[in-house]
Amino acid sequence: MNVADSRRLASALEKLGYQPTRVPKEADVIVLNTCVVRQSAEDKAIGRLSSLKPLKDKNPDLVINLMGCLIGVRGNTKIQEKFPWVDVVSPPSHPEPLIELLIQRNAKNQSLEKQSELNAILDEEISLPEDEKGRLVSAYIPIVYGCSHACTYCIIPSKRGVEHSRPYDEIMAEARALVNQGVKELTLLGQIVDRYGLDLPEKPTLASLLRDLHSIEGLKRIRFLTSHPNWMTEELLDAVAELPKICPHIEVPIQAGDDEILRAMRRGYTAAQYRELVHNIRERIPGVSIATDIIVGFPGETEEQFQKTYEVLDDLRMDVAHLARYSPRTGTYSERKMEDDVPEAEKMRRFRMLESLQEEIATEINSRLMGKTVNVLFEEKSRGRWRGRTPTNKLVFVESEEDLLGQERDVNITWTGPWSLIGSLQE
Ligand code: SAH
Repeated sequence: MNVADSRRLASALEKLGYQPTRVPKEADVIVLNTCVVRQSAEDKAIGRLSSLKPLKDKNPDLVINLMGCLIGVRGNTKIQEKFPWVDVVSPPSHPEPLIELLIQRNAKNQSLEKQSELNAILDEEISLPEDEKGRLVSAYIPIVYGCSHACTYCIIPSKRGVEHSRPYDEIMAEARALVNQGVKELTLLGQIVDRYGLDLPEKPTLASLLRDLHSIEGLKRIRFLTSHPNWMTEELLDAVAELPKICPHIEVPIQAGDDEILRAMRRGYTAAQYRELVHNIRERIPGVSIATDIIVGFPGETEEQFQKTYEVLDDLRMDVAHLARYSPRTGTYSERKMEDDVPEAEKMRRFRMLESLQEEIATEINSRLMGKTVNVLFEEKSRGRWRGRTPTNKLVFVESEEDLLGQERDVNITWTGPWSLIGSLQE
């Protein structure tokens, strides 16, 4: 979501005449877009923020913009007191404060009507930043902003605000604009992406959006994330199964395998219902890959309860598991009402157990691709190797002198590991 927000902001900055640089000390404007989903992310953001102070000391004209969840939709007044080298703060998905400030400072714009210029710049269609034009193969499009589910551990609803879907036509226009600029793959984003449209007057569904996006010429692949189990409709699964451009890859977090913990997390389903869903997804979408998220060490999680999570992961054999240790987030229900009582070392032990289980599972799943031919969309060449993904989201590396950027090619798999594959182009 932050990558998408940053790109929109970069697009607006270029309309004001700014250009990207990779060298921080050359920059006139630095935007730090932040995440606070876990303490580690917040620490990283604060670390980066601190590292910007010397640049500001050397160049007082430098504009430093702190954006994202460290600010949040309700604002964060303390942050500028604590870090006075920050010039302007912006909530997640809201580039306006920075653009407004720059318009004000920009002498040549003084004669223009400020508000209308701001609107014009931000309403214009997204245009890829200079360094990505013709090179960006895969782009994100936010389709649902915010979240209203309120899982007890999660800070996102309070930082990104209430759930609201983007208008259908706006998404279609952005998709076409990106494809016209060379993008081949789109990933639709939402905290609960499968709730798309429920808050819009015409109640469009994610499935209908996928069908319309599917007809965009030049677009090769479409993905969406993240789904909540309770909103995965048959209509959605059918759309994924039927439409060849929709990648057979589902990101649907379980978070825990014990019903009591799931209830305490306020996830709204049982482990049995989740198992049933995975079964259903696999039945309807042949060859589908499934990714899940899991939190270990939620308040009160006993060894027995953790074992249930272990068992579910062992039984369901997911392609990918994003693992996290519970991190109490200020203001969330679990932080206020529950004790963070699983010791750090124990969280780590549970984390490592799932990690090695998942490594075994992924090794086994991926080894079945050995000697097989897979279709790969190439995104980037780095350190002499082309990097791309299969429709099932497996990372594939290929050595080739050809320019493969943005191409979909058949690849023979010659090596498999838990996290990636290696292959050679099929002649
Ligand atoms: N709505 C998105 C949430 C993105 S956050 C989704 O459902 O995927 C990504 C993951 O971070 C969550 O799925 C969860 O596993 C993890 N997470 C969120 N809050 C956390 C917390 N307080 N401590 C540890 N992990 C957390």
